[in-house]
Amino acid sequence: MIQSLHSFDLKDKRILMRVDYNVPLDNGRVTDGFRLQASLATIQHCLQQGAAVVLMSHLGRPKGKVDKKLSLISVGETLADLLEMPIKFSDDCISEDARNTSLDISPGEIHLLENLRFHDGETLNDPQFSMLLAKHGEVFINDAFGTAHRAHASNVGVVDHFKQTGIGFLMEQELKYLKESFDHPQRPITLILGGAKIGSKLSLIRRFLNTADTIIIGGGMSFTFLKAQGREVGSSLIDEKMLSTAAQILNEAKNHKVKLVLPFDFVCAKNAKSQPDAVYSRRELPKDLMGLDIGPKSIAAFNDIIFSSKTILWNGPMGVFEQEPYAAGTKAIAEKLVEATETGQTTIVGGGDTAAAIRAYGYHHDVTHVSTGGGASLELLSGETLPAFSALESK
Ligand code: AMP
Repeated sequence: MIQSLHSFDLKDKRILMRVDYNVPLDNGRVTDGFRLQASLATIQHCLQQGAAVVLMSHLGRPKGKVDKKLSLISVGETLADLLEMPIKFSDDCISEDARNTSLDISPGEIHLLENLRFHDGETLNDPQFSMLLAKHGEVFINDAFGTAHRAHASNVGVVDHFKQTGIGFLMEQELKYLKESFDHPQRPITLILGGAKIGSKLSLIRRFLNTADTIIIGGGMSFTFLKAQGREVGSSLIDEKMLSTAAQILNEAKNHKVKLVLPFDFVCAKNAKSQPDAVYSRRELPKDLMGLDIGPKSIAAFNDIIFSSKTILWNGPMGVFEQEPYAAGTKAIAEKLVEATETGQTTIVGGGDTAAAIRAYGYHHDVTHVSTGGGASLELLSGETLPAFSALESK
């Protein structure tokens, strides 16, 4: 069974903690500290309990080579500012110097290791690399949800070297909302999907055909479904390879008695860079225009469905939300979820683009849960077993 952080006596212990500090940088400065913020509660708990904390993370894809542009040093500086305390930093994660620093830190102190992926042993889940990492601590805590779907040394290989292993508060929250809340769901359940790629959300759709009461499909992916129904979709985004799969899903939804709802109208234009032409009903999409956002009739219909649901899961933008003229549908869904949360409904926002959008609107504290993982959140929601959890479960 996976242990919670609360089950350990942490006093005078050295905790080796896997965190996900894979954050965006611009000129070496952290531009979005969301993942750092999300790690604070677990770190502070360990420090308050009298533990010393050694943090490890990857950043970007340096492919096993040192790349100073992907150093975690500025992440350490931002973290020190957030925690209002100094942090020790080692410029390698497995050097003797780094190990000695970990052995020397006192309770209440933090030591951050340099980017794990400067060594290819990390992504190869190399046993020797795992063993060297494990020397940094006596208790292993994994709080890195963003990489939970990968079997790497720092979240899988390392586990074998510890008697005491567990997850931090962030991982606990992700499990609670992305897994447990669908094991014993509050009905009706609505899944809202959007974005461009159907392929990456296929297993999620399949699982929710068995679980959800309603599936709303908006965003670019809705056109493949509309075309599969035989409709004219103009020059909108179409995934030709997915047409037969979309037709199959529409059929399965009927058999499973799941309501599958597609947008009724769209804000259309020549392309995403041009100004909107007008709003068109899905019955009359012009041949030379593409749908770039859902229209007001769709927003109203989706809002009604959200209003009458108990559990709502949202993954994927309703339009090309990066461009202001096509952001209204995505923003409207975010606003309705905030309202739903206020009235006691459970609102869960998957990671990646959707999490970025809700943070940009400043609503991330006003919904029940915003996931910190992209691929990991899709896999967990699809009912798959993630390597990071399996490794801890087998202890
Ligand atoms: P995904 O990674 O599959 O979640 O797709 C996210 C992307 O879908 C975003 O970059 C959006 O701009 C894009 N997107 C959403 N709606 C549309 C649309 N109607 N046409 C083209 N792209 C879209």
